[in-house]
This record gives sequence, structure tokens and C-alpha cells, in this order.
Amino acid sequence: MKEHLEQIRVQHEGLGSEDLLRWSFDTFQGDIAMASAFGVEGMVMIDMAARIRRDFNLFTIDTGFFFPETYELMDKVEKRYGVRIERVKTQLTPEDQERAFGPALWSHSPDKCCQIRKVDPLKQKLSGLRAWITAIRRDQTANRATARKIEWDEKFQILKVNPLADWTTKQVWNYVHEHQVPYNRLHDRGYPSIGCSHCTRAVQPGEDARAGRWSGFQKTECGLHTPEPQPELVRLSPEPLPTR
Ligand code: SF4
Repeated sequence: MKEHLEQIRVQHEGLGSEDLLRWSFDTFQGDIAMASAFGVEGMVMIDMAARIRRDFNLFTIDTGFFFPETYELMDKVEKRYGVRIERVKTQLTPEDQERAFGPALWSHSPDKCCQIRKVDPLKQKLSGLRAWITAIRRDQTANRATARKIEWDEKFQILKVNPLADWTTKQVWNYVHEHQVPYNRLHDRGYPSIGCSHCTRAVQPGEDARAGRWSGFQKTECGLHTPEPQPELVRLSPEPLPTR
């Protein structure tokens, strides 16, 4: 697949999101899965996938630190769409992590925490697949600005499909309203981007949509969509991260 990637990419870059999803499911059958953290883009992807096939593979990297609102939404997704969400986790419980690294690892070494709780479990999960589907968009972060709709994921050595790569925030919300897609209630309370409760705060008017993620650090990505490990993070401000 990797050898023919350029040809495949050129052939499919012009496809709409739904057609690209359909092609992905038809091509990879049971060897493709959708990853979701149930942000609004992820909900669009889930809704679109459920219109194509009821039995698609859906997983989340469950850090154990999601907001209660996110776990509620996951229950709603399973009921509404009739899909089972596979909860992929590290074997290191939050208590084990605290014993090994001290309390609140995320507050001083978020890269280490994300590596343990997100990146390593994802690597393990993807090793059993031929392709994965994400809901990333180019205008979300600088790292994502060059995302293709189909690309080779060097980090995880697998084909990556990003059907919403060229969507805008407006398109996403239009789709949600048009199809009455359920979404995380936190989006209505100032959380445009939602990750773990320890590392996500509401944004203020005028702030960047991802300013509430790892606030006070240079970090903008958890490492699932970055090609190489990020350099050791530098604290930008003394603003403490929440420890709950
Ligand atoms: S987002 Fe925060 S709590 Fe979640 S895995 Fe990363 S550093 Fe840890």
C-alpha cells in the first residue's frame, strides 16, 4: 500500500468526505478503524460512518481522565448509533502512574503522561490494523496544516485517512445542526477543544480554539498526530494546571 500511496492519494484527494469513508471501508473492511475522542469533528465522522455501515470499528484512547460529559456522550453514541466503542487503555492505572512518577504527572511532564496514556496504547492498537480514520482538520493546529486526506503515517507505519482535512469549523457545525448530531455539552460552555479534564480549560473570547489545551505549556498536540516526539516542553507561564 505504501508504494502506491501517491497514486492512491492523487486519485482520492478530490473525493468528498462521505465517498472517502465509503472507499476506506470497502478497501480495508475489518482492517480499518476510526479513532475518536468525541470532539465535534469526531461526532461528524461517527454520524457519517453510521450512515454508510452500522458495524464500523470505533475506538477511543481512554486515558481514564476524560470529563464526565465525555463519558456521557460515549454512552449516547453507543445507544444512538448501535456501535460498540472499544476503549483502548494503558495497563498503568492512574494509581500505578502516581506510584511510579509521583502525583499529577500531567502538571509537570505532560508529554510523558500523554506518551503513557495515549501514544503507547494507540501504537499497540494500530499494530493490528492496516489503516485508521481520524477527524483532524488542517486549520486546527500548525502540525495539522499539511494533513492530506490520505497519507502514510510514518510514526505508526499505517495508512491514515483524514476525511475532514479540508473542512472548516463552520462546515462541521452546519453538519451537526443539519443532522442533529449529539455533541459534548462542554462545547457550549467555552470548550471548543476537549481532552483530558486535567489538561483542558475553557477558552476566553478571542482566544485560539486550542488555547485551553495544556494551558501554560508550549504543547499543542498529545502526540497522536505529530510525526516525531516533541522536544522537552518549556513552561510558558507559572499558571498551574488543574490537579483533579
Ligand atoms: S492530556 Fe493531560 S492527563 Fe491526558 S494523557 Fe495527556 S498529559 Fe495526561
